[in-house]
Amino acid sequence: MLQSELKKPVSTDATQLLFSEEQQKWLAKAIDFAKAIPKADIIAADRDNIFRRDLFEKACQLGFGALPFGKEFGGAGGDYVSFCLVNEVFARYLTPIMSSLGVHVLCQEPIYRFGTEEQKQKYLVPSSSGKFLAAFCLTEPQAGSDTAALQTKGKLVGDEYILNGTKTFITSGGAADYYIVMAKLQDPQFSDEVKSITSFIVEKNFPGLEVGQKFDLMGMRGYTTCEIVLNDCRVPKENLLGEHGDGRKVALSSLAKGRITIAAQCCGWAQSALDKIREYSASDTTGTLEGYGQNLGKLVAQVASARALTFQAAYAVDRGEPDVVLASMAKTQASDAAVFAASEAISIIGWGADKPDLLLERLFRDTKVGQIYEGTNQILRLLIARNILNC
Ligand SMILES: Cc1cc2nc3c(=O)[nH]c(=O)nc-3n(C[C@H](O)[C@H](O)[C@H](O)COP(=O)(O)OP(=O)(O)OC[C@H]3O[C@@H](n4cnc5c(N)ncnc54)[C@H](O)[C@@H]3O)c2cc1C
Repeated sequence: MLQSELKKPVSTDATQLLFSEEQQKWLAKAIDFAKAIPKADIIAADRDNIFRRDLFEKACQLGFGALPFGKEFGGAGGDYVSFCLVNEVFARYLTPIMSSLGVHVLCQEPIYRFGTEEQKQKYLVPSSSGKFLAAFCLTEPQAGSDTAALQTKGKLVGDEYILNGTKTFITSGGAADYYIVMAKLQDPQFSDEVKSITSFIVEKNFPGLEVGQKFDLMGMRGYTTCEIVLNDCRVPKENLLGEHGDGRKVALSSLAKGRITIAAQCCGWAQSALDKIREYSASDTTGTLEGYGQNLGKLVAQVASARALTFQAAYAVDRGEPDVVLASMAKTQASDAAVFAASEAISIIGWGADKPDLLLERLFRDTKVGQIYEGTNQILRLLIARNILNC
């Protein structure tokens, strides 16, 4: 009975949900783009830890690079739900540019909301076409979850800000054309250091910006993840983003949406694992399906509920009512579902030493990050708990 059920389309598939014609167009476009990338290229990007800038640029030319932003700055004028659909598809097919694209859009958000007209023209327009790639610099060696502990300092000297500090785990580091950087501004106006956190747009060629250690990660390979070192880095005054002390507001504006993007990516990873289980089950003649049916049933339900939460959170953004708690619930549920799905897929399909499924292996290594970046699940669960207890 389980065997025949599995041969029907899995009801958790995003295409089965109700989306507008416009949203379905983005979905179809993303599937076309992702499916056209040869499997060998996906494996090579992971194996050799190389970033496919060419694919990133192509994706931007198709409108994915600034999908949820207005046409006046080169964006596609789409909604956030569409962007999440695209991210789900890119994760599902392990598109090797997914993470860089997600961060790229995350960086455009604060410029769109807090940037001057000049900054929008200078950075958003070339970002949407893929001429510029953006990266987000918040995390530091001593400040991950606890962003208030960040130690990068900024000081206004004449017409320039001088930045000093080290940022770590920066997706697209070294490959990016500009960075959104958070630093504590040294200014007597701020007696409380946390309130002094300020944001800057730092171009790759500004004097004093250096690429530090490059990471050879176990998962999420191919995104040039590295340290960015600011060594007396000189940033012109006009590259201040927002006002002095707006840094936390700027960062949160990005992360509130970014967490929903991550949730969508995790739904895609989980779906990819389900796809592989279905593929395998079609050729499995060993009759062991009854053995793993319990876990598989649980998993399918978990993925479906994660997806429902994810698109509920994305619709809230499109209604102009972004909800950080909903976004956190989506991200925690979807990332746990993705890790569970990848693990179950390996349990069911096996290690396959004689015929390894390298994409499944990659999925297993990649999914873990969903529980870590843009707010660990532990921290997000505290946020959810605090919200319900109103404390
Ligand atoms: C592949 C990858 C890409 C990344 N890309 C970027 C990027 O582009 N830009 C960027 O700025 N950052 C990026 N990051 C950093 C990421 O956001 C951080 O790793 C994350 O915020 C966690 O910080 P941490 O690693 O320092 O862990 P820590 O904060 O040191 O946490 C370690 C563990 O302790 C737990 N913990 C910490 N504090 C508490 C608490 N109060 N209560 C309960 N548990 C707690 C955490 O949940 C976690 O399990 C990336 C990370 C990875 C792995």
